Amino acid sequence: MSSQIDEIKSRLDIAEVIGEYIELKPAGHQSFKALCPFHNEKSPSFFVSRDKQIWHCFGCSLGGDVFEFIKRIDGVEFPEALRILAKKAGVVLKREDAAASNQRTRLLAVEETAARFYEKNLWEKDAEPVLEYLRKKRGLRDETIKKFRFGWARDSWDNLSLYLRKVGFSEKEIADAGLGIKGQRGIYDRFRGRVMLPIANHHGQAVGFTGRVADFLPSYKKDEDKSGKYVNTPETEIYHKRFILYGLDQAKVAIRKSGLGIIVEGNMDAVGLHQAGFINTVCSGGTALTAEHFSLLARYAQKWILCFDPDAAGVEATKRAFRDCLKTDLEFYALPLPQGKDPDEAVREDPEIFKNAEKNALPMMEYFFKLALEKFSPSTLEGKKGITKILLPAIKDISSPVEKSHFLKELSHLVNVDEKSLQEAMDKIKTAPAQNHPIVYSLSKSGGKAPPVSREEKISKELLGIIMGRSDFIKAAEQKLLPENFSNSRFAVLYKEIVSYYNTAIQDADFKNDFFASFSKFLSIHHPDLAPLASEAVLCYEKEFSSRKDAELEEDAVERMQVVLREFTRRQIKNLRDKISRAEREKNKERVEELTQEFKILMQELKRLEEK
Ligand SMILES: [Zn+2]
Repeated sequence: MSSQIDEIKSRLDIAEVIGEYIELKPAGHQSFKALCPFHNEKSPSFFVSRDKQIWHCFGCSLGGDVFEFIKRIDGVEFPEALRILAKKAGVVLKREDAAASNQRTRLLAVEETAARFYEKNLWEKDAEPVLEYLRKKRGLRDETIKKFRFGWARDSWDNLSLYLRKVGFSEKEIADAGLGIKGQRGIYDRFRGRVMLPIANHHGQAVGFTGRVADFLPSYKKDEDKSGKYVNTPETEIYHKRFILYGLDQAKVAIRKSGLGIIVEGNMDAVGLHQAGFINTVCSGGTALTAEHFSLLARYAQKWILCFDPDAAGVEATKRAFRDCLKTDLEFYALPLPQGKDPDEAVREDPEIFKNAEKNALPMMEYFFKLALEKFSPSTLEGKKGITKILLPAIKDISSPVEKSHFLKELSHLVNVDEKSLQEAMDKIKTAPAQNHPIVYSLSKSGGKAPPVSREEKISKELLGIIMGRSDFIKAAEQKLLPENFSNSRFAVLYKEIVSYYNTAIQDADFKNDFFASFSKFLSIHHPDLAPLASEAVLCYEKEFSSRKDAELEEDAVERMQVVLREFTRRQIKNLRDKISRAEREKNKERVEELTQEFKILMQELKRLEEK
């Protein structure tokens, strides 16, 4: 095996492999630099040496050989990285079943050839109205059309299959790839007169297609068309719907970097969001999220925002996803959209909704309460019924009895119906059987030593930078925040040191002008391990905040303290939930009672923090 690894390495150029994922810029002799895909940064600290065939990031100190890179960027284990790179290097792995891998390779080749064929068609003269449709009606820019490889399947029975036969694929291969259908007189094209979008797996290989009917063409005859608005590749050897998250190949780096992903239902929603700059978007393809989807999601980030259509089906899908995610380590939120707008329309009208997605996204129950109140008024009988119909099933899904009772009480207040009646009504609701998911581990458990930089960490770092850059904010921070409010222990220690240094050295008047200069000297002696973090944070202040006006900067600081506190409270609530379930299992009524009181207080606290 090791000789094969060496062979693969010797055949590949590390700069070329990495260059397929991120943009490399020359940085001296045989070396390149780039923005690190594994941590958040604004100037490049990621270096690749072609000479030594290694990479290293001076920002997050990750590094290694080409295998290590693939493992990290694709979130795969070594055997999968080996397969990916062997393929790139053209090395046939001895252990793999040659026949099976050969069939797979052939099918991938058919799909890729078809994708190119359709793509080429779209830019031919006869497809101009199709291109116009994509540009004008769908609002797509040419770069987006190319990035997602839109194509055109001519309205013909054999346009594609003839071409594929000509370049050497057999009828069986064309049929096995789902591109052709075997009829009595031979094979014919599955996709005819359709706008084509290749579906790529998370390695970016086309494995199937979705084709939209060209009902915008004057030549389109509705009566002759019996196949529906969309036609998709059926399940094949390489296309398994339950494994596919459309757009993940394009989104994975951004998702890993931000620690956050957006999930939409439709391919066009994903394309629209990417075009608008929200490149951490993936698409579930309109089916319920499967166990395989959840495993895939967990590889890239812990936090996911559901953004499904605000119609009945979308609400059902949101509910279902919330329920299924309870069995994983993932955190799900839902982003409410304006009535009647799918994500693609919504982002075109108001990108701000998505810019503030993390702030606007709601945890499960808050989402349902908001939804219910938007649709119905709690003051009429009809309204009460409507609200109850939305909320009761959701409350029933909650596994913790304490939380269940908490939200039942809230509902009871809202509609002014006593809890007992609601409880009875809830008991009568039949729940759909939940999917049986394997346990999904979060990134923090399965991933390596460099967890993605979460938004909270970024914000904490910015806050520390601001108070070091502007030491007159330290007092205000001290009144609001305790070191333990930070999620990261290094931030907590740095914060503690900043505050205590400020308080003990305040008599020393000269540091007032340049707090950081004197504080960093102190750090380098007493806490050299924190020095890099401190410089990083203060550099971040210099770059991003130092030109802000006083009032703005104060707002920035206060807002960041708020986020730190809010996330701290959320963590506390999560801990408390665990404690309550434990006490419930131990049937310790008194303790449950006590913890429930605490829970209520924290929930109020959180509400207050979220309102601000
Ligand atoms: Zn890095």
